[in-house]
Amino acid sequence: MAAARLAEAGHDVLLLEEGPLLAGADFTERDAEMTEALYAERGLRATDDLAVALLQGRAVGGGTTVNWMIMLRTRDWVLDEWAERHGTVGMRGADLRPVFELVERETHARPVPDDVHSPNNRIILDGARSLGWRAEPAVINARGCVRSGFCGHGCRYGAKQGTLATYLPRALAAGARLVADGHDTSEIALQLCYSERTVKNVLHDLTTRLQLRNRSHAVAYAVREGLI
Ligand SMILES: Cc1cc2nc3c(=O)[nH]c(=O)nc-3n(C[C@H](O)[C@H](O)[C@H](O)COP(=O)(O)OP(=O)(O)OC[C@H]3O[C@@H](n4cnc5c(N)ncnc54)[C@H](O)[C@@H]3O)c2cc1C
Repeated sequence: MAAARLAEAGHDVLLLEEGPLLAGADFTERDAEMTEALYAERGLRATDDLAVALLQGRAVGGGTTVNWMIMLRTRDWVLDEWAERHGTVGMRGADLRPVFELVERETHARPVPDDVHSPNNRIILDGARSLGWRAEPAVINARGCVRSGFCGHGCRYGAKQGTLATYLPRALAAGARLVADGHDTSEIALQLCYSERTVKNVLHDLTTRLQLRNRSHAVAYAVREGLI
């Protein structure tokens, strides 16, 4: 979103993504291939003590390429709590309502039509209503969803209106540049058959000599100098 808005406002925008750029038929719907291609640490990311597993997208579009498309607005009572307990400013319900509406419009967020709920969701919806509980269909950011059920593997039908289908094309059309498929130190070491320590030393020498602040700054430098 930020990239699209900044590029459209005439700023020079460079998008860096450590994961790959995949779209359409690249999403094979094969669990082994897609989990490895689209998730951080091949789907096995966890906290250091392994107590909490963290399923996180790692591809152009980030989590919005693999997520299940449920579009929830942060509730007013949560925003109020943030303001009162944590001092957030300009983030009350009334402030964010136009922002939510804008994002929902731009990502084609709509309630799931009543006749396309899966049987298990249908049971939950009907059951809740028959008990007199408030129950609503989920709002999802999809256009022409074919209900393949493979949302977590990326959408090969182009229905999912994540950042890959919405803000990224806008950013690129407005002149932003994208560099994907980054490697971390261990991957570079593996590919070059060097130790991680050697790779770190070389990176440190390079960034010091060229007065670069970090890896992102180094990629921006390489793009500017026409090296990539
Ligand atoms: C399977 C799944 C289903 C989900 N379903 C829903 C849902 O239905 N509704 C909902 O609201 N949320 C859902 N989420 C959560 C939602 O997708 C994420 O909360 C959201 O995408 C987070 O956005 P973000 O921009 O903070 O980070 P991310 O989307 O995680 O994006 C960060 C990106 O930065 C890249 N990156 C990280 N470090 C570097 C680096 N050093 N250099 C370059 N690139 C880097 C990562 O590879 C990643 O692509 C789901 C998440 C998953 C994994």
